[in-house]
Amino acid sequence: MSAHPSHQITADQSLLKRINRMALIRLVKAQPGLSRAGLAKHTGLTKSTVSVLVQGLIHEGWLREQETTASQGLGRRPTPLVLDPTHLGFLGAELGVDYLNVVACNLLGEILFSQMLPYQHQEVDRSVRELSDLVESAHGSLLTQHCRPLGVGVGVPGMIDLRDSRLKFAPNIGWYDVAIEKMLRAELDKGGCRDLPLSVLNDANAGALSEYVFGAEQNSAPLVYLNIGIGLGAGIVLGDRLYLGNDGLAGEVGHTILQQEGERCACGRRGCAETLISQRAVSRFITGQESPILSIGELVARISRNDDATRQASTRAGQYLGLLLHNLGNTINPGLFVLGGPLVQLGPTLVQTALETMKSYGGRYDFHRVTVRQCRFGINACAVGAAGNVLHRLLHPIEHPANEQRTETHTR
Ligand SMILES: [Zn+2]
Repeated sequence: MSAHPSHQITADQSLLKRINRMALIRLVKAQPGLSRAGLAKHTGLTKSTVSVLVQGLIHEGWLREQETTASQGLGRRPTPLVLDPTHLGFLGAELGVDYLNVVACNLLGEILFSQMLPYQHQEVDRSVRELSDLVESAHGSLLTQHCRPLGVGVGVPGMIDLRDSRLKFAPNIGWYDVAIEKMLRAELDKGGCRDLPLSVLNDANAGALSEYVFGAEQNSAPLVYLNIGIGLGAGIVLGDRLYLGNDGLAGEVGHTILQQEGERCACGRRGCAETLISQRAVSRFITGQESPILSIGELVARISRNDDATRQASTRAGQYLGLLLHNLGNTINPGLFVLGGPLVQLGPTLVQTALETMKSYGGRYDFHRVTVRQCRFGINACAVGAAGNVLHRLLHPIEHPANEQRTETHTR
């Protein structure tokens, strides 16, 4: 007999338990120091159910009891619960346009291991293999630190199809229709990561999750993360979820068109935002040539010695960035814009110019209350966010039901 999907959820005791467990973790994550009684009040679960679940979560390394100073004659205080940063680990990797990067994080997003290599992609197989080797090193490092890895997230510079996790198109490395998740899975299955859940996501979406999952602003205000490097993309978090759109292609702001008949973009169109706001664009503004693209190190060195052409190029990109922020502000009305990716290292000529331009477009009738700031994880943002995606998926078991089944039977 086949059950109606809505009945399946309530009939599945194991899923129900996961939903309740993760609700408790989300609450403690948002409000560190909540007691068991507080959790019962917030969730509507009975105190005895909460006690049993919390016991399990402590045993598995999700939560720990916070030390409290002894109260003097006031009776026993409820024991505050906090996330346990010492037992669980999350692996994150970035397949960058010209580098590979991998990190291992704890439950608080603190980096326990990181390794970055400059890299030029030649064959897909080789890139996937070398990235997997780096992930294996991070995995080994977690184990030596007595952390239990819960999964691997990988950020890639392209569009991921929601239906089958294929990389549809990565214009800046020239990859089309690559079965990236399948290939990574096959490589990881050869080593210590074979039992770990794997997720692949767009690099800007990963950046957005680095801020949302591990950042200080734990609220549901819409967040837009801009990843500005050789390419340009955005990750959008709306209502506690990464907003992916109908096909997984939301946030491709780099290929919104800002200039009719503008320069040719890596995607084949003309005048995309990416041709005006990117490392490639700043480099072209300076040299007048599409290639070679000046490295970030070179651009930063030129800015710091006050090279006029580079300052002008950076300012020009900043003006277009301000225009894009204005447009995104009017489309999404976020509470927070986070600027990330290598190009933000150009500093005020880019970032301050963008802010001023955005404000100037706002004019008298600008009702937006938005904070704009730089990302907190710097060059590691995408890898940390890919690790954050592992945690984010575990914390939302209804949307990602297969995840925790692979990990919940193990305890520390
Ligand atoms: Zn384009």
